[in-house]
Amino acid sequence: MEPNISKLRNIGISAHIDSGKTTLTERILFYTRRIRAMHEVKGADGVGATMDSMELERERGITIASAATHCLWAGHRINIIDTPGHVDFTMEVERALRVLDAAILVLCAVAGVQSQSLTVDRQMRRYGIPRIVFINKCDRVGANPSRVMTHLRERLALNPVMLQLPLGLEEKFVGVVDLIQMKTLKFEGTAGEKIVVGDIAAENMEEALAAREQMLDSLSMFSDALTEAVLEERVDEELIHQTIRKAVLNHQIVPVLMGSAYKNKGIQALLDAVVRYLPGPEEIVQEAIDLDKDESVCTLSAKPDDPAVAFAFKLEDGRFGQLTYLRIYQGRLKRDSTLVNSRNSKEHRVGRLVRMHADRMEDIQEAITGDIVAIFGVDCQSGDTFTDGGRRVSMTAMHVPDPVVSLSIKPCDIKSEENMSKALRRFAKEDPTFRTHVDPETQQTVIQGMGELHLEVYIERMKREYKAQVEVSAPQVAYRETITKTVHYDYVHKKQTGGAGQYGKVCGYIEPMEEGQSEFVDKITGGSIPRQYIPAVEKGFVEMLKKGPLVHAPMERVRVVLEDGNYHPVDSKEVAFLEAAKGAWRQVIHQAGPQILEPIVRVAVDGPPDFSGAILGSLSQRRGMILGQQEEAGQMHIEAEVPLAEMFGYATALRSITEGKAAFSMEFVRYMPAPLNIAQALVEQARQKFDR
Ligand code: GDP
Repeated sequence: MEPNISKLRNIGISAHIDSGKTTLTERILFYTRRIRAMHEVKGADGVGATMDSMELERERGITIASAATHCLWAGHRINIIDTPGHVDFTMEVERALRVLDAAILVLCAVAGVQSQSLTVDRQMRRYGIPRIVFINKCDRVGANPSRVMTHLRERLALNPVMLQLPLGLEEKFVGVVDLIQMKTLKFEGTAGEKIVVGDIAAENMEEALAAREQMLDSLSMFSDALTEAVLEERVDEELIHQTIRKAVLNHQIVPVLMGSAYKNKGIQALLDAVVRYLPGPEEIVQEAIDLDKDESVCTLSAKPDDPAVAFAFKLEDGRFGQLTYLRIYQGRLKRDSTLVNSRNSKEHRVGRLVRMHADRMEDIQEAITGDIVAIFGVDCQSGDTFTDGGRRVSMTAMHVPDPVVSLSIKPCDIKSEENMSKALRRFAKEDPTFRTHVDPETQQTVIQGMGELHLEVYIERMKREYKAQVEVSAPQVAYRETITKTVHYDYVHKKQTGGAGQYGKVCGYIEPMEEGQSEFVDKITGGSIPRQYIPAVEKGFVEMLKKGPLVHAPMERVRVVLEDGNYHPVDSKEVAFLEAAKGAWRQVIHQAGPQILEPIVRVAVDGPPDFSGAILGSLSQRRGMILGQQEEAGQMHIEAEVPLAEMFGYATALRSITEGKAAFSMEFVRYMPAPLNIAQALVEQARQKFDR
């Protein structure tokens, strides 16, 4: 039977670390009968929750890689992409978000919107992902769903609509009041599997009616039909569901449900909401780049009978070779069919097609548009697009940030050296924000990534999964350089030593740009430099832009303009113009007011108010600029912008000044000029390193 794509949901579950995402996922898999027993995240039974498949994750109890799994609920298939919580893994999150159609945002009923939820929410907004909020941990002391509602409004600027009220709170939490049915739902039995529907007790009625009215008020804003029905007092459940669904899809509201994953309460109602209110794949317009039509943007159809288009969003090194996770955007994938990689036109046969369940898999014959599956042994990169050859398209490029932290590593022995290079090749392929190269100046292997923890995790994986023991240097910030003044150049490269000579003359100017990558502009019109030599001039400048004059960092925001020049009919050749460009650069670059740029991160810290002085102090001490602070419900929330270079080791420092009671997250925001004293120290360091 052909699966119905309107009954498919591709969702992510995202949350601040420790909000209960893993526990919730586990419960979802249990209620949908994907797993038979539940385990705690760091369970005494030593098994660990099903989704954290890597050994490292089990040990640390955090979810790093975005595993995919699926389950069935009320006649719908739900694919769950487990998005990692830590900001340092933004690429993982971004890739997961690229293939999601919707998400559940899990918030803790006590802590509410925490530092990490801010970042995740910003990312979801960027990808236009509709979401449902689940307020978890209603059983905890201090649980307060209405405060979380205020957070959603104030901190995330969302329009939350509460569809339930808690039935009891803290240790008395037993279930929810469903404001649509106007019934109570209790979750009984050993694992909350028995849903007991009851009437709202008289003493709770007033509160429930008021909350329902508020819900209907908020929803009426988006539906004339509902407004009329409310006035005529003939509101039916179906109309409410329809209104919510439409408003969610239009990003007008965020429905809010609640429960306790740990105590097995409220999960089934959340699953109902997922299938009722979140969109299926055909309801989302998917754009791609048409490679046959000048890379213009085209829309995919989401029809199963159109040519196949699938996107590789995650790679894993499995027991049977490379496992590639694909999201199908159009058409269908079949076992034994041939796929073409749009990037390099290479053909691959689909030997095995599987659907993933954490670290287990099920073989399938065919999958259709909208679905998420995995294939084996296909050599490709993450972010590649596959088609069946019928239509040459590429899914729009993913936003890949440049790495901001680097460190050098050295294998401890020969065996480790081999294993290390194997591991590095693998990681770089899996994760575009992880890069590696050999520094030509020091001959050391350098790895680069999005943060300290990002690199730490790869070093751990190198040790555990690849048995590569490595020595690690202190992390370094990836600086950039730019210029502050416009300078003119006029340079002749001349060489006359026996044989044929070299002659090339270049004139023009170098100027600072507001922002962006550096660029070369050719303004030669009269043929003062013949066309065939222009690329050599460009190459010369581009080479110089790779290594700034101060600390050998790549230069950005620099425009090099070539206006004039001269040549010699015999002695001019490409190399002469290449050298002329380099010479011109060296001649003037120090007059252009070169400047070092350092990466700045936005840091959010949550902790008890008693420690706010210490936290503020720790940020100022790190050259941080405090953006704001807010105290609420016994928690202090502080945001600041801090140079990344100062943030190394902050996790440890914060733990020690707050007795481990505070948490922080950070996200790269921009490059800014480094202050003079810092810049001088960096220049001095570079001089010692490079001018030996
Ligand atoms: P994640 O980091 O978001 O994946 O969170 P986990 O699922 O690992 O949960 C973090 C901790 O909170 C674990 O110790 C869980 O047992 C606990 N936890 C999860 N859900 C609840 C809940 O509903 N109530 C309470 N009291 N604790 C919970």
